Amino acid sequence: MLRVSEHFHKTDTGRQRKSNEDNLFARPPVFAVADGMGGARAGEVASRMVREALEAGLPDGGSAEERLAERAREANRAIHDLALSNPSQAGMGTTLTAAYVGEDAVSLAHVGDSRAYRLRDGQLELLTRDHSLVGELVRRGKLTEQEAEEHPQRSVITRALGPEPDVEVDTWSYPAQAGDVFLLCSDGLTSMVDEAHITQLVREHGDLAQAGQALIEEANQRGGRDNITVVLFRLEDVSGPATAAPAPTGEDRPTQVDLEPVTAEQAREAAAGGQEGLAEASTAAGQGDRTAAPRRTAPLPRREPAPDPPRRRRRIRGLRTALVVVVVAATILTGAWIATRAVYFVGAEPEGFVAVYRGLPYEGPVGLRLYERTYVSAVPISELPAARRRTLLDHRLRSREDAQDLVRKLELGQVDA
Ligand code: MN
Repeated sequence: MLRVSEHFHKTDTGRQRKSNEDNLFARPPVFAVADGMGGARAGEVASRMVREALEAGLPDGGSAEERLAERAREANRAIHDLALSNPSQAGMGTTLTAAYVGEDAVSLAHVGDSRAYRLRDGQLELLTRDHSLVGELVRRGKLTEQEAEEHPQRSVITRALGPEPDVEVDTWSYPAQAGDVFLLCSDGLTSMVDEAHITQLVREHGDLAQAGQALIEEANQRGGRDNITVVLFRLEDVSGPATAAPAPTGEDRPTQVDLEPVTAEQAREAAAGGQEGLAEASTAAGQGDRTAAPRRTAPLPRREPAPDPPRRRRRIRGLRTALVVVVVAATILTGAWIATRAVYFVGAEPEGFVAVYRGLPYEGPVGLRLYERTYVSAVPISELPAARRRTLLDHRLRSREDAQDLVRKLELGQVDA
């Protein structure tokens, strides 16, 4: 059975912000980080409401994941309702990354871009998936981690507690063992200090208080552009050596170890994945199955089935096969190219604005795109209600008039939410 043997928590305003809109909660077995956003210090209100929700304890019944998620959904409703009743707090929101230490696993509930990591045997492992514009692009291979760190939209998050009446909360349970150190942190840490340095600093310092201080100092030394919040806890086993769950190493992210109802929810979300409003055209590779675009964009390798004809004939036959393949491929590609001229779709371009594309929302295996951008609107997708994004940016093929009309209406604010 696991228990928290040591923990540390601290939030720091950083060097450039006037106020601290982060909040944290650290009362074993529950830990959390919340990073608020919204004008007129409303972010501070939102993240504090999350902390207060946790101070009331977790609801009874259900798995740890369900209990954490339920608290998160309640906080979401409370923040949303308050924002509706107070114009100066309109649109306020907060991230939440919460952890619960169970008997042999740590359960997480997560919304936004605060993160959870596990350090085991000197290896740092990211346990959460950022709900952010750049996070989605990184996962689809469209941005490198490096590019994401410098991306102008890196702070745009695609999910938060507060802005919408309902929120989908990601949950996981990770097998844990004695000696594991967990880190929850706001993006004020991860945007300033890379993972290699985080690993090094936690490893270097034997006790978590020193490690935590070092992380915050490092973020400040590198500019401290945002509020920095760090929560660290270490686990020990209090039931003897035999009961620690043998945790798989390596590729277990994200993993559900229990088969409780939340797992189904998780599966549903995974299925809905890719559509949570980001539907970016530039990242349509995962949606290739929606269209019948030809996959053969590279010259096919020659393959000769005949086992042993004389050498010369074999070469002639090979040449002939190659020629046929090239002609067929060219015909298919030409046909597809003509077809793509006639269709349009609406998506979001990499900077996060709604755009009109001509062609098919598909990218070939060698980076050959079957679409081109014809118009970029002034409407950021972040301004669309999440529920609408899904239907507006679904990459449905449209006529040119239809696509242009839709975007024009968006610009004029005529599409009802
Ligand atoms: Mn932040």
